[in-house]
Amino acid sequence: VFNFAAGPATLPERVLLKAQSELYNWRGSGMSVMEMSHRGKDFLSIINKAESDLRSLLGIPDDYAVLFLQGGATTQFAAIPLNLCTPDDSIDFVVTGSWGDKAFKEAKKFCKPNLIWSGKSDNYTNIPAFDDLDQTSNARYLHICANETIHGVEFKTFPTPRNGLLAADMSSNFCSKPVNVTKFGVIYAGAQKNVGPSGVTIVIIRKDLIGNAQEKTPVMLDYKIHSDNNSLYNTPPCYGIYICGLVFEDLLEQGGLEEVERKNKHKANLLYNAIDESKGFYRCPVEKSVRSLMNVPFTLEKSELEAEFVKEAAKEKMLQLKGHRSVGGMRASIYNAMPLAGVEKLVAFMKDFQARHA
Ligand code: PLP
Repeated sequence: VFNFAAGPATLPERVLLKAQSELYNWRGSGMSVMEMSHRGKDFLSIINKAESDLRSLLGIPDDYAVLFLQGGATTQFAAIPLNLCTPDDSIDFVVTGSWGDKAFKEAKKFCKPNLIWSGKSDNYTNIPAFDDLDQTSNARYLHICANETIHGVEFKTFPTPRNGLLAADMSSNFCSKPVNVTKFGVIYAGAQKNVGPSGVTIVIIRKDLIGNAQEKTPVMLDYKIHSDNNSLYNTPPCYGIYICGLVFEDLLEQGGLEEVERKNKHKANLLYNAIDESKGFYRCPVEKSVRSLMNVPFTLEKSELEAEFVKEAAKEKMLQLKGHRSVGGMRASIYNAMPLAGVEKLVAFMKDFQARHA
């Protein structure tokens, strides 16, 4: 099947076959990765390799820590303000979709967030011009969601915070294209869209920002604890980290993130062109310049046909095309691991469906 789910999402077949081949006996150890001590030399080699491959992929400099954590990106909505702010600190939020809005609401419990821009009145279909942003002069950081998974809105360039740091939720476009890590104070991402199974959350943080957590910060949310212990303070999500490591290896073998981005652009163009050339039969509400390469929401002019579209597509083995319940319509998530053949098949199906129902 071709699985267009938003996450957990499709993973590269090569990676799953490799994991299958060493499921019971990881490289002669006589054990599955699931059965290994997280403190043994075998697992240490797995987590160290995963980190070093991720550093190569994204060009992460030595003055940034890479943490493999748990709790999903949702936990980071609290962890970042707890680690970077005092309760009296201001932070700025540019909210371009539901995930950014959730992060903003959570931050209210730990510091003083300001909503300096929201796309809510336009149903989250755009990103503001950075020059127009009225940033708070003493904001500790500016938070963005680099790709809004539900609304399909993606930052193509990044704002420069006036006095502070940039913090970004990259859950749904992590490792989908090259990113200049040095523009950010902190980047975080749940693994379950582009780089692995659910249960692993990756945090990339500038080291000088670590060590100032609010006193009440739970141990599990304190970046210093995790950084001092190389993500092994408690039992980490070992198997998930192992799979992420296989995905990083695969992305490097493909030629790195420039090549990955080239493929992602090609797939996304095919799909957006099919939508735009349908003479209004299909419609994507997102402003063209900020359309996501990863999550493509679209509606049918005849909305009563949407359920039929999803049902017929499923019969053709194209699954999970129903849009998020909060926006309706359809959504095709086309992460790194979605093969070109999957997008080509969807486009052919869309043309055929239109011919039969126009
Ligand atoms: N941020 C974004 C952009 C997401 O797409 C999601 C989940 O889909 C989340 C945060 C929440 O992630 P988690 O379920 O890992 O907490």
